[in-house]
Amino acid sequence: MDSSQILIAQAYIPTYDKGMLFRKEKKENFEMKDTNCAYCMMEENPSLVAAFGIPICDLSVSTLILFKEQSHPGRCIVAYKDHVSEVIHITPEQRTAFMEDIAKAANAIHKAFQPNKVNYGAYGDTGCHLHMHLVPKYKDEFEWGGVFEMNPGRKTLTDAEYAEMIEKIKAALD
Ligand SMILES: [Zn+2]
Repeated sequence: MDSSQILIAQAYIPTYDKGMLFRKEKKENFEMKDTNCAYCMMEENPSLVAAFGIPICDLSVSTLILFKEQSHPGRCIVAYKDHVSEVIHITPEQRTAFMEDIAKAANAIHKAFQPNKVNYGAYGDTGCHLHMHLVPKYKDEFEWGGVFEMNPGRKTLTDAEYAEMIEKIKAALD
């Protein structure tokens, strides 16, 4: 391969490896990174996010995470890529992209689990990293008609069950 062929090969990288570029861009664009924050440290210290969630995949400006407490089957989190606290701290374009990611995740949850409603919650009083809880609700089942608890602590799954759930969500994302 001569030097011109190498340049052509490099030019094609964005097409072939979008996920990788996203990761790179994600790191470079961090205005602030909190080393105690589970969402900031998903790569550097995965044990933080493992305390409550399992990363599924990257979306356009966020990461989709399966919530380990599964009283509401299919419950997930969409975490924004940067350590920002408020929706007013990102640009309108970033907000639109974030909302599109939330819609994409919600659509997958609807397809995979057929809930009667998905509840949405953005809290983070102490966490301060923009993220949205997507909580599928099922008619007449746990917490139907009420506000979902942050972590009911009543139902976890086996590793195999988590893996199966993640595969269902991934399949429904396409
Ligand atoms: Zn963070």
